[in-house]
Amino acid sequence: MAQRQVFHTALLLIICLYFFSCKKKNTEENTNFPIVETKNNIVNEPESGYIRNVYYDSTEWFNIRDLDPSIEIDIRYATENNFTGEMMYDCGECFLRPAVAYAVKKINEDVKEKGFGGIKIFDCYRPRPYQQRLWDKVPDQRFVSPPSKGSMHTRGAAVDLTILDKDGNEIDMGTDFDFFGKEAYHTYPHNDTIKYNRTLLKSMMYKRGFKHISTEWWHYSYTLDNYQLSDWVWECNK
Ligand SMILES: [Zn+2]
Repeated sequence: MAQRQVFHTALLLIICLYFFSCKKKNTEENTNFPIVETKNNIVNEPESGYIRNVYYDSTEWFNIRDLDPSIEIDIRYATENNFTGEMMYDCGECFLRPAVAYAVKKINEDVKEKGFGGIKIFDCYRPRPYQQRLWDKVPDQRFVSPPSKGSMHTRGAAVDLTILDKDGNEIDMGTDFDFFGKEAYHTYPHNDTIKYNRTLLKSMMYKRGFKHISTEWWHYSYTLDNYQLSDWVWECNK
């Protein structure tokens, strides 16, 4: 009887050890990617080039200026140099969700590796109160998303940008940022230089998990994670 009990205990122990080792193996398999930022569990997938935030409900914001001060930032809605002709933001900052921000940082590095000066950003996260201001100014869904519906910008997952040459000049993309017309479409028959420049930006963005929209060459949305609309507004030190 005692022998049988010993046998059962040993069997139980073997089963426990088996499950424990399996569990450990799975954990190791899941953390295959080198962790580049442990604070927010951001991982880099070397095979795809994608940066992922393993928490889909992350509400943290990263300021691009802190992450990579070399990125040129010209938030046009914080100036009068935009299609409304008025300052729509109290001040210009480029905040993005963590994984999105890291992806943008990588894109700047990729662009520099290709021999260019880097990227220049026109818009990032757009707080819903600022979206409301834009909507109040231009209540037309062709140009502005209604605040209730929001956009990838109000989710902190979209970026408007271009590429700079070695001298810091914007490369020729055919139109300015926020040009509302067919010339801004990806399909518009521009010359080879413009086509090349747009394709270059598109390929840099896709490599890091962004997708384009057909009507704006400057707009890219991060598609690997889902984020909620947000009302949070950054502080302005005036
Ligand atoms: Zn945009």
